Amino acid sequence: MTGLSDSFQRPINYLRISVTDRCNLRCIYCMPPGGVELTSHSDILSYEEIYTIAQAAAELGIDKLRITGGEPLVRLGLPQLIEMLAGIEAISDIALTTNGVLLADYAAELKAAGLKRVNISLDTLKADRFKRITRGQSELRQVLEGIEAAKTAGLEPVKLNMVVMSGINDDELIDFAAKTIDQEWHVRFIELMPVNGDVNNAPRFVAASEMRKRLEPLGELEPCLPSVGNGPAKYFRLPGAKGTIGFITPISEHFCFNCNRMRLTADGNLRPCLLSDYEIDLKTPLRSGVSGEGLKKLFQRAVAEKPLRHKLAEGEVPNGRPFSHVGG
Ligand code: SAM
Repeated sequence: MTGLSDSFQRPINYLRISVTDRCNLRCIYCMPPGGVELTSHSDILSYEEIYTIAQAAAELGIDKLRITGGEPLVRLGLPQLIEMLAGIEAISDIALTTNGVLLADYAAELKAAGLKRVNISLDTLKADRFKRITRGQSELRQVLEGIEAAKTAGLEPVKLNMVVMSGINDDELIDFAAKTIDQEWHVRFIELMPVNGDVNNAPRFVAASEMRKRLEPLGELEPCLPSVGNGPAKYFRLPGAKGTIGFITPISEHFCFNCNRMRLTADGNLRPCLLSDYEIDLKTPLRSGVSGEGLKKLFQRAVAEKPLRHKLAEGEVPNGRPFSHVGG
């Protein structure tokens, strides 16, 4: 049982750490065409500073970390950070969220450093469409190689996150789901959130109920035991399939009442809710010599301020920062 809980008695044991606001892709649902304003390097937390915050968090009851970004693998020396974090006694699980483009180069090193699992964003299985969605110089082939490298390195289960967008990639729902039949693919279909992307994501929204309808030709989805995942996704399996299909429904069925997470931005702010702009600055106190106890008090204050739920349905869209800053 965690020692940390918020003012609604939700246990808080999970910290997502964004290590950079830089990304090697410009996904249409995540960033405007011109990219986003970048934080200067001196304002990004050093690995030592991230370690100090994670250590304080672990002393309070955080036992699970996820490294994200921006694209975490564009930050130099990431395995070194993983190794530092894996050395914190109370931390039992470290995972990474990545677009997979550079993963083939780092998978083995990350595993050796103490990384347990990866989630890889993959929104299409078509090479030309990949270029369009990511507006990038990277290739789909690199992500597919990254997926294989992660499996070979034992970074399992590999979960694949697809943000489903009407008229852009929703015709691939069946293709992704079919992949779970013969291969141990764990695909998660994510509802598009109306933030940060190509001006207005809202018209591209597809509800999970509609996604499920589109999968009906493949057979009945059997619910999986919760042990398949303890995050926000609800998991299912096609009859006889090796892999699973998950649905993440931030819009049609929010999962805030089970939220167990806090977020640390790359520039050192602690953010209790992805979809609320409220943050507490940890970097300034850290750089002014705050004690371990002082840091823990700030962390506890941010946890106490965690809102009960997001207010997207009421039209309250966070506009302070793009997802690539907060860590998605
Ligand atoms: N670069 C890494 C990656 O691509 O996974 C980590 C950062 S990315 C911001 C984290 C997650 O946020 C990804 O799974 C991405 O699909 C998701 N995301 C970004 N914008 C989103 C949006 N508007 N709606 C839903 N998910 C979004």
